[in-house]
Amino acid sequence: SLPLRQITILYMWLNNILETIGNTPLIKLNKITKNLPCTVLAKVEYFNPGNSIKDRMALKMLEVAEKEGKIKPGGTIIEGTSGNTGMGLALAACVKGYKCIFTTTDKQSKEKADILKAVGAEVIVCPTNVEPEDPRSYYSVSKRLATEVPNSWYVNQYDNLANRLAHYEQTGPEIWEQTEGKITHLVVAAGTGGTIVGTAMYLKEKNPNIKVWAIDTYGSLLKKYFDTGEIDQKEVYPYISEGFGEDFVPANYDMSVIDEFTKVTDKDGAVMTRRIAKDEGMFCGYSAGSCVQGLQQLAKGPDGKDRLTRDDVVVLIFHDHGSRYVGKVYNDQWMLERGFLDVKTFKDVVGGRGAQRLISLTCSDTVAAAIELMKKYDIENIPVLENGENKGAISEGGLFNKILNNPDIKTQTVASVMEKAYPEVAFETPVERLSTYITRENGAVLSRDESGALHIVTKYDIIQSLSK
Ligand code: PMP
Repeated sequence: SLPLRQITILYMWLNNILETIGNTPLIKLNKITKNLPCTVLAKVEYFNPGNSIKDRMALKMLEVAEKEGKIKPGGTIIEGTSGNTGMGLALAACVKGYKCIFTTTDKQSKEKADILKAVGAEVIVCPTNVEPEDPRSYYSVSKRLATEVPNSWYVNQYDNLANRLAHYEQTGPEIWEQTEGKITHLVVAAGTGGTIVGTAMYLKEKNPNIKVWAIDTYGSLLKKYFDTGEIDQKEVYPYISEGFGEDFVPANYDMSVIDEFTKVTDKDGAVMTRRIAKDEGMFCGYSAGSCVQGLQQLAKGPDGKDRLTRDDVVVLIFHDHGSRYVGKVYNDQWMLERGFLDVKTFKDVVGGRGAQRLISLTCSDTVAAAIELMKKYDIENIPVLENGENKGAISEGGLFNKILNNPDIKTQTVASVMEKAYPEVAFETPVERLSTYITRENGAVLSRDESGALHIVTKYDIIQSLSK
């Protein structure tokens, strides 16, 4: 008699969604790391049913708790989480018949709470701006609930060693088999430490020469702790990167299996995340970008020399899916507001042209003079200024129509035929935004530099700048 799982595999179906956890693909990166001589492979964990690697440890922690009698049938799972771990726990709870209560903070997007509610969890939103010890903090509330709710189990992914065990039992062996033991480097963004430590423990047992590189972020104390052994609260401040870095050292860490740490800035991680999606067609979460950026940083040793070779096989872990970040790294406005997009502005267009005097007219100039200026400088748009004030505009198109109707117009003043003044915008306005001002009636935009001098950017300038 075959065990149930094997019987169902014979019949090509699975018994429930939890059986789809793990055995994720290992996929070669073809563009984003092509500057490196080695083979770079990504373990793409968004193929898990909850779209993240956390499904693995969530199920494992629950199975261990069941085995140890920490949770009984019909019991309640309690954890402080808004993200991937909550999703994994909720899926496991659906299938196994438990309730879930998650605490989260009001800093997290409403969508995250709604996703967890969609899979049956109860979500309690707590204030962000209170100390962890404050009874209102999401940390205190989850702890209190764990004592008050009967037959409940407080997961504590940070110190629960079944977290790293999941990766020792699954992620590590899968990578070993998928590379046929050829892996030389493992690169992982580190948070609770479960992924990097569990995977590294297994791989180093197989081959102690494998190098394990950890990715941290600015605002987290992990790297400094690794380098010096000091828990330095001065390293801790709010950061934008998501999913990794910590303000304490969780019990899942065994720093002896890690060889090196690097810190990746919020901006570099975000920019690289977008590049992974565009270059590789992998729509990943923020920490995947930080992971690739970290590899690029560590590819050169402290002496500045390249330290990866043609024979090296580097495995990165891409923890989760990009859908969680559509309002963030994948949103242009969000990126712009944080200074993460290097966009061209009005100022750049003016700088790129070199020093140029603004060609302008005054209200009392004649139309003939305007036509003369257009011919002389080969321009189509001329602002009309009075004492430096932007009063109106003469454009080739507008003038053409008026001359067709009345050829005598040449002797008239600019004031009598001028069109609406060109709009004035801030000097730092992105070029893409400038294009929204350009219409059939309006061919240019004006702006003042730091000294107050006016500059013009025309439709032609914008096309030139965007096509560079
Ligand atoms: N990236 C993402 C997106 C995550 O959700 C996590 C888990 N917090 C990590 C990286 C870090 O993994 P670990 O907690 O296993 O160190």
